[in-house]
Amino acid sequence: MQVTVLGSSGSYPAPGRPGSGFLIEQAATRVWCDAGPGTFGALGLHIPLDDVTAVVISHRHVDHCIDVLAAFHAWAYRPEPRHGVPLLAPQSVIDALAGFVDPGSGGPFAHVFDLRPVEGGERLVLGDLDVEFFETDHSVPTVASRWTDGARTLAYSADTGPRGDWPQVATDADLFLCEATYQADTETDYPHHLRAAEAGRIARAVGARALMLTHVPPDLDPLRSVEEAETTFGREVALAVPGTRHRV
Ligand SMILES: [Zn+2]
Repeated sequence: MQVTVLGSSGSYPAPGRPGSGFLIEQAATRVWCDAGPGTFGALGLHIPLDDVTAVVISHRHVDHCIDVLAAFHAWAYRPEPRHGVPLLAPQSVIDALAGFVDPGSGGPFAHVFDLRPVEGGERLVLGDLDVEFFETDHSVPTVASRWTDGARTLAYSADTGPRGDWPQVATDADLFLCEATYQADTETDYPHHLRAAEAGRIARAVGARALMLTHVPPDLDPLRSVEEAETTFGREVALAVPGTRHRV
């Protein structure tokens, strides 16, 4: 299994740094996981866009889902539209995105995408990958995901506060892709994100073999986030850099 970072910018994009999005691949299975702003174009730098076999969206915040609409335009408004691309997401994501395109139901959005609502506790097969979803500690329905090809495991925190079900999500993960929106001195009254040191602490507690930070906002120095996570993880921590490909 390999994962390509399409974008990892927290909350909003910056030049050269799309919002959250990853390409998860195993054999012919190519999953676009989270569709932050700029990730659809970035996807085309790595694979032919029609090769996407499924789209998985963690939650309906714009910085994680809005480029599904870019994909919709690309796949709908051409001589031979794509249809039936599996789109797995919490129901609120599907409602929001479909509502943007189709005033009713059964319109072009539901033709291009095969709409499949998911929630925490579900486990399913997507081609050559198994994926499990877990509800996170966020302010809207959000699913973390745990991916396996039968041998290796990738865990993705999505957006979350510290109260996630971490043993389920990330125990023994070969790679734990974890959000780190805040740093030690970030002042905030929004408790549904992690500090970098919390990401490191969680990864260590569940025995993750490698930790990669994502969702660091553009106004923070990401290398400082890495340093803070390393103090609690106790080992080297990686940063999700757009355009980089990692074997899990
Ligand atoms: Zn969010």
